[in-house]
Amino acid sequence: MSENGTALTLRGYRDAIRGGAMSSEDAVRGCLAAIERLDGTLNAFTQVFGDHAIEDARAVDARIRSEGAERVGSLAGVPVAVKDNICLSWGRTTCCSRILEEYESPFTATAAQRLLDAGAVIVGKTNLDEFAMGSSTEHSCFGPSRNPWDPERAPGGSSGGSAAAVAAGMVPMALGSDTGGSIRQPAALCGIVGVKPTYGRVSRWGLVAFASSLDQIGPMTRTVEDAALTLGVICGEDALDSTSARVEVPDFTARLEEPIGGLRIGVPAQARHDENHPDVTRVFAETVERLRSMGAEIVDVDLPHMGAGIAAYYIVAPAEASSNLARYDGIRYGRRAKIGRDEDLETLYSRSRSEGFGGEVRRRIMLGTYALSSGYYDAYYNTALKARRLIKGDFDAVFSGAAGAPGVHAVLLPSTPTPAFRIGEKIDDPLALYLEDIFTVTANLAGIPGVSVPAGFAGVDGKRLPVGVQLLCPAFGEVNLLRIAAQLTASMPLETLAPVG
Ligand code: GLN
Repeated sequence: MSENGTALTLRGYRDAIRGGAMSSEDAVRGCLAAIERLDGTLNAFTQVFGDHAIEDARAVDARIRSEGAERVGSLAGVPVAVKDNICLSWGRTTCCSRILEEYESPFTATAAQRLLDAGAVIVGKTNLDEFAMGSSTEHSCFGPSRNPWDPERAPGGSSGGSAAAVAAGMVPMALGSDTGGSIRQPAALCGIVGVKPTYGRVSRWGLVAFASSLDQIGPMTRTVEDAALTLGVICGEDALDSTSARVEVPDFTARLEEPIGGLRIGVPAQARHDENHPDVTRVFAETVERLRSMGAEIVDVDLPHMGAGIAAYYIVAPAEASSNLARYDGIRYGRRAKIGRDEDLETLYSRSRSEGFGGEVRRRIMLGTYALSSGYYDAYYNTALKARRLIKGDFDAVFSGAAGAPGVHAVLLPSTPTPAFRIGEKIDDPLALYLEDIFTVTANLAGIPGVSVPAGFAGVDGKRLPVGVQLLCPAFGEVNLLRIAAQLTASMPLETLAPVG
C-alpha cells in the first residue's frame, strides 16, 4: 500500500496560514505526523524537533494573532527542514559523521536564521552523505535515506534526506547544499525542484565547510515558485561571510509567469553522453521540443571542456576538503578518542580522526592532501585550477556569444545520466558514483546558478522513476533561470508528490 505525506506546497501552507484557514501549529503537527508515518521507511531525518517545533509554532501563531501574518514574515508559520550540515543553535549538527555525532552548535547559520526571521518553523534536520561527500546518502553514519518513488533505491545525494522529505510530502521545503550537484542531483532523482544559487548569493556562514569555493545553500521544493519564495528569504549579503555577494536581492517571483518566447536556449553537444540512460535521452529530447514549441530558440552550443569537469572537481573539492577537515582534531570539535597515559598528542589526533571519519571522507582527505603536497601541487591542483578556468570560459563564451552570434540566455543539460539507482549498486565503485556528477559539477566550478526541474518519468523494473533536466544561467541570473524553469514546469504538469511504498 502506498502512502502520501501532506500535499500542500510552501505557498499553499503560507496562504492557508495567512488566510486563517490553518494555524502554524496545525501545519507543524501535520508535518510531524507525516514524518512519523513515513520516516521509518525513508530515513530522511536525522532529528525531528517535535516539542521544540510545536512551541515555535505556537509562538508564531501568537504573533500572527497580534501582528498579522504579513508583519510576522513572508513564511509566517510554515514548516520547513534543513540539511544536517547547517548549524542550528539547538539540537545537534552532525554532518552525519561519527566525529560530530554529539556536536551542538552554539549558533544558527545565516540561511536558517533568515528562514526563522521570516516566520518559518524548522521541524527537523535531514540526512546526508557524511560531510556532504557523496551522491546517494549511503555514506551517512545514520544509514541511507530511501527514494520515496522506490524505497529500494537511493534518493541521490548528498542532500538525499532533504529531497526524500520534500518528495514524500513530509515538509514543503528543505534546504540543501550543493558543492558539485548535491541539490540538483537528488532533486532530479526524487522528482522535485532544486536550485543551486550563484556562488555568493547565499551566505555560507554556519554551513559546515566541505569545499569553500564551491559550496552553496539552496532550496529543494515541489514547485519553482516555492524555490523562488525561499530564495527571496535566504539570499543576500552577510557580514559574517566575506564571499557573500554585495548584490541586490531581486524579487525572484516577479517574472515566473512571463512567457519565454524569443529566449535563446543553448543545447550543448555534451548533453548527449554515451552513458545516458535511454529514458534520460528521451526526456531530454522531449524537453528540447517542448521549449521549442513554447517559442524558445534552440541553439546548438559547445562546452568543449565539460569532459574535464569531473577530474577538475575531484581534485579541487578534495583539496579544499582536506584543508577544511583539518579542524577536526579531537580537541576543538566533536569526538575525542581515548588515549592511554603513555600515549601522545599525535595518537589522540590520529585515533580521533580514524574513529570519527568514514571511508569516503578519508578517501577525500587522502586525495586532497596528495594533490596539495609539494611535488604534486603543480601536476594536480594547479592543473585542476586551469581546467576550472577553461570550464568557466566555455560558459562565458556561450552566454555572451562569439563571432557576431548572440549569446544564449540559458543552457539546458540533463541533471543526471540515469534515474535513481539501487542502494548498494554503486557503493563499491567510487568512480561510478563520481560519474553521477558529470552534468552538475561544472556549474559549481564556474560559480553559476543552476536548477533541476522534473521533466518526465522513466520506467525501470516496473517502477516509475522521475527524470530531471537542468537549466543553467549566467551568474546572478536567477530571475530568468526561475522564469524559464517555471514556464517549463507549467507546460507539463507532473506529479511531484511521491506515493511512498
Ligand atoms: N556528489 C558530489 C561529491 O561527492 C557532490 C557533493 C556535493 O555537492 N556536496 O562530492
